[in-house]
Amino acid sequence: MDVDPHTPPTSATQLVDSFGRQHTDLRVSVTDRCNLRCGYCMPLEVFFKARSELLTYEEITRTVAVATRLGIRTVRLTGGEPLVRAELAELVGQLAAIPDLDEVALTTNGLLLAEQAAALARAGLARLNVSLDSVDPQRFGQIARRPGLERVLEGLAVARRCGFRKLRINAVSIRGLTEAEIVPLARFCREQQFHLRFIEFMPLDADAGWDESSVLTGSEVRAIVEAACGPLEPVPAGDRGQPAVDYRYADGGGLVGFIDPVSQPFCNRCDRLRLTADGQFRNCLFSTTEWDARAVLRGSGSDDDLARLLVNCVRAKRAAHGIGTTAFQRPARAMYQIGG
Ligand code: SAM
Ligand code: SF4
Repeated sequence: MDVDPHTPPTSATQLVDSFGRQHTDLRVSVTDRCNLRCGYCMPLEVFFKARSELLTYEEITRTVAVATRLGIRTVRLTGGEPLVRAELAELVGQLAAIPDLDEVALTTNGLLLAEQAAALARAGLARLNVSLDSVDPQRFGQIARRPGLERVLEGLAVARRCGFRKLRINAVSIRGLTEAEIVPLARFCREQQFHLRFIEFMPLDADAGWDESSVLTGSEVRAIVEAACGPLEPVPAGDRGQPAVDYRYADGGGLVGFIDPVSQPFCNRCDRLRLTADGQFRNCLFSTTEWDARAVLRGSGSDDDLARLLVNCVRAKRAAHGIGTTAFQRPARAMYQIGG
């Protein structure tokens, strides 16, 4: 999409869409590459983008600085697997130095965390989410379609030693695939004091196997956790933009949350924007349109041109993703190509 030359100049409240939603969170994908092949995300055989197509760290930092001027306050790095991109801590350091940006966070599968956690902490990474669907090595390998549980567990332990206290674990829930993982994962996270969050399976798998019947809903998962681990009590929602609904074990200690984009869509309070690894702004995971920041960056566009592009992206945001309606259109890109 072109930059609208008539869009007014920039200010910290520009990222408000036509439904009044203010956007303060930017998800930045740094690569489409990954060292796992989770069936709900990637295909087994995959062609990655050429390195030259990906934004450089300098291009990402410039874009985030412009977005911060417009009101973005938190950035989460993702992918693909962000830790497979060389020297990620350098990017974290560059972003952490942007004035007015409150927090730089990371979502990772954890395989390379043991090697990188110390450098990430030193660079100023504030938060860490680790995706983990099973604590059984064989089941882990079946779901991720590559081995690696031991390395993830080591990564978690090292991250904690490096000062990441509030570690969050994300697990995808898929009917017929993950039911048996729920209770062992919940017990493990409780013992280790990790904040576990279950995420409903979304239609973003590269193999397009998703259908509504494959969504194991958050309420079904919660019932399984309660039956095995005891009752859960809702925790009052603090941060309005947070999509998760968190619960506490009634007998004390431990948080478990549910992100239910399919059964309980939270589009009405969405505060997220996305930048893909190849430099496209998206206003939704399910966008079918993208705004080409890379063309502006590499075509000698100004920071104001970038800002106008992002403002236009926000203004075009739809009310809701529409999953389950006849109007719903699957985006052309899968999760690993967008950045979850
Ligand atoms: N590789 C990193 C990781 O796995 O954490 C970061 C990228 S991954 C795409 C980000 C998150 O998206 C992960 O927690 C993953 O489980 C989740 N995810 C991937 N495909 C999904 C899908 N189809 N539905 C719901 N969540 C999905
Ligand atoms: Fe890789 Fe993360 Fe996708 Fe799994 S969910 S294939 S770890 S990008």
